[in-house]
Amino acid sequence: MKATNRREFLKKAALGSAAAVSAGWLWFNGQLLWNGFFIPASKALGYSGYAHASRGKEAMFFHKNANRSVNCLLCPHACRLNEGQTGICRVRTNRNGTLFSMVYGKPCSVNVGPIEKAPIYHFYPGHERLCVATVGCNLRCKYCHNWQISQSRPGQVREYDMPPEQIVGEALRQNLKSISFTYTEPTVFYEYIYDISKMAREQGLKTSIVSNGYINPQPLRKLLKHLDAVKIDLKAFNDDFYREIASARLNPVKQTLEVLRDEGAFFEIVNLVVPGLNDDPGEIKKMCVWIRENLGAETPIHFSRFSPTYKLTNLSPTPVSTLDKAIEIAKDAGLKYVYIGNVPGHRNNSTFCPGCKQRLVHRMHFSVLEQKIKNGNCAACGLAIPGIWET
Ligand code: SF4
Repeated sequence: MKATNRREFLKKAALGSAAAVSAGWLWFNGQLLWNGFFIPASKALGYSGYAHASRGKEAMFFHKNANRSVNCLLCPHACRLNEGQTGICRVRTNRNGTLFSMVYGKPCSVNVGPIEKAPIYHFYPGHERLCVATVGCNLRCKYCHNWQISQSRPGQVREYDMPPEQIVGEALRQNLKSISFTYTEPTVFYEYIYDISKMAREQGLKTSIVSNGYINPQPLRKLLKHLDAVKIDLKAFNDDFYREIASARLNPVKQTLEVLRDEGAFFEIVNLVVPGLNDDPGEIKKMCVWIRENLGAETPIHFSRFSPTYKLTNLSPTPVSTLDKAIEIAKDAGLKYVYIGNVPGHRNNSTFCPGCKQRLVHRMHFSVLEQKIKNGNCAACGLAIPGIWET
């Protein structure tokens, strides 16, 4: 089938499907959206796409053992699962000696949002992307904003039947530039994003993941062949924080960042600054120096403001002065693209040329008001700006 015909086919697939499952769709801002957020299964009555018993697709990256147990090789948790057991992520299960993804083609949330919300700032600023998530996560962050879905099991919240071609078709139908895997941890729905990303690229769409970086090098390298941009949460530069707040370890995340560097992937880093837990200026300095020395001074980094949620409602929001201090530390360490997140209207929402200091992308929170990057270069002085830009 020719690419153009296939593109039409995918668009029609999305339209046909919309008519078939209209009970699960919403009109919002003139757009037709799915949204499974926070709708308990008990209220998902009459929806034809709701999760059914036949779910599951054989996983990639696992080892079968003689006693019918399996070792999952996808993430650093390295779960060893006996028959019937499910991994820490809650979505990968050993069925009859084979590992299955229980969320393939079963998103719980599909909607449209700006790339600035990821945040990935050096990737077609201001563009709208199709955001896709399934339930599940391999971390247990005590401040997770999406814990209702990230900490759920398949079937606990409303889910939809949407095979990869339907996701791609929907992005095409809405004339979106990209598809983003976000809200929960994309690693745990690896097979789904792998298939969608391959198909999306064939159709001229870009893709990105918004990830905690807790993935093994081999699956990451394979996925990167089909991805365009990556955002990694570097939650702290402190292994105790990772253990106590996220139930994970720091080193695998550093390793992921090094793989991204080695593979030449475009990526940005987010550090959510939590008062009293990871806001020590010395630790922030160590992190910034490590980034400059190991990943490069041009790696964009975002210091985001924490707001109390989930299990950390006892803490206060991050003072803006703490974020300003982090910006100063990062710039002193030599990082060139340093941002503040979750503080609408802050000067450091915007991108400035490190050469001539011109404001290149004027942002107001998630909106782009003005852009002065021409073919990837500063329009004023011609300096090349790292990222994925319109040409
Ligand atoms: S992806 Fe899930 S099952 Fe596999 S090792 Fe990680 S937490 Fe365990």
